[in-house]
Amino acid sequence: MNILCSSCRAENWLENQSRCISCEAILRRCIDCNGYEPRRRLCRKLKVEVEPNEARSPSLLSGSTSCRDYHPTVARSP
Ligand SMILES: [Zn+2]
Repeated sequence: MNILCSSCRAENWLENQSRCISCEAILRRCIDCNGYEPRRRLCRKLKVEVEPNEARSPSLLSGSTSCRDYHPTVARSP
């Protein structure tokens, strides 16, 4: 799956990358995933709470970084 980096808009191949090839931002953000409910701060897939800040700008230690159930809601366009 090709996704665009939320930070620099570079194209990245999601399956074998966790960070952007261009700017090294984390690619899997809960806020972009259809399993995440921002109002309840909840990942429906993993049944865990994810703080809004972390959902928007995850770190390497965040659960989303290597999440196998990650499904971006929309294919983002530039
Ligand atoms: Zn980037």
